[in-house]
Formats: sequence, C-alpha cells, structure tokens
Amino acid sequence: MVKREIKCPHCCQWTVWQEQLQDRCKHCNGLLEQEKINKIEALASQRKLKEEIEQARIAQQNPFFRKVKQYTATIFIGFILVLTAVIVLAAG
Ligand SMILES: [Zn+2]
Repeated sequence: MVKREIKCPHCCQWTVWQEQLQDRCKHCNGLLEQEKINKIEALASQRKLKEEIEQARIAQQNPFFRKVKQYTATIFIGFILVLTAVIVLAAG
C-alpha cells in the first residue's frame, strides 16, 4: 500500500495521509480533511434543511390541494349532470 504524504493544513508539516476522511496529522493531531468534512457536513445540513422546507411546504399545501380536488370532482360531476340534462332536453 502506497502511503501518501500531505501537508497538514493546521501545522504545515508533512504527515502521512491514507486518503481517509478521518486521517489525523501525526504532529498536531488535526484532521487533514477538515475542509472536506466541513463541506460534507454543510452539504448534508443544507440538504436536510431543504428537505424540511419541502416537507413544510407540502404539509402547508396538502389541505389546499385536497380542497381543490374535492371542488374539481364536484364541478366535474355537476358539469356531466348539466351536459346530460342539456342532451336529454335537446333530444326531447
Ligand atoms: Zn498538523
């Protein structure tokens, strides 16, 4: 296994890096991929926030959509009844 050397972003000394996210500097014990970890965590929290906003939006919209669907069904049935009545009247 090839061991890579990486410059520690904390103490600026060369240390062994095994390309693992949780690798730590052998000099200062700082996380070598701190930036990447921060980015991943930021992305994850952003995604979570987006999901929460989306879910809140859906929860807010649902009663409205349910009402619209109900009205649409009622209007549709009414329309068909009126159409049937008109056809019956026109034929008669
Ligand atoms: Zn270090």
